[in-house]
Amino acid sequence: MSLSEEQKQDRHKARQQKVKENVDKKIANAQEEKGLLLVITGNGKGKSTAGFGTIARAVGHGKQCAVAQFIKGTWDNGERNLLEKLGVEFQVMATGFTWETQNKTADTEAAQLVWQECKRMLKDESLDVVLFDELTYMVSYGYIDLEEVVEALTNRPKMQSVIITGRGAHRTLIDIADTVSEVKNVKHAFESGVKALKGVDW
Ligand code: ATP
Ligand code: MG
Repeated sequence: MSLSEEQKQDRHKARQQKVKENVDKKIANAQEEKGLLLVITGNGKGKSTAGFGTIARAVGHGKQCAVAQFIKGTWDNGERNLLEKLGVEFQVMATGFTWETQNKTADTEAAQLVWQECKRMLKDESLDVVLFDELTYMVSYGYIDLEEVVEALTNRPKMQSVIITGRGAHRTLIDIADTVSEVKNVKHAFESGVKALKGVDW
């Protein structure tokens, strides 16, 4: 026996009511206020743009923000061009990251210089949101000590939020994070031979 339109409507209403009650309950339960640690990882495109989107959101609310970028030091950088004008501090790995040479000593030194700035940011009460773009690789390659990262993150100001991006986030970073998203690659234009596009890819 098929349901009348009216019965369908009633069922839908009842279901929606239940959803609303559950959401309301969750909102009422979410009372804690603290800065968040976000990890955005995975192989799909969108990790850094999500990080910078959050920075843009925070700046739009008048929050104080800072960015540290590992790896893409020598590239022209659209986010930096915009956000520096709005008072966002940028620390960028000056020598860039040497995928080709795999010079571990030089890479470690370059990473460490930026990491010292990150540690300073993680002690700075005036910073509301900080982004460590591509930090995951530095930890995976052992250029920055995982324990040091965990300690600095754990002891940061209570209301400070931190966003870490990059593929292959270490299990420990995922464990200590409040919010973790994994961006999945469904397809990417580069795989079909399209060049990285200024303003979209960088
Ligand atoms: P975006 O900066 O665009 O948010 P991302 O931070 O998720 O990308 P990264 O691994 O940091 O990704 O790589 C940055 C660059 O590589 C961008 O130009 C991006 O378009 C490109 N890229 C990202 N994911 C892929 C992929 N799955 N295949 C090929 N190129 C990719
Ligand atoms: Mg990225």
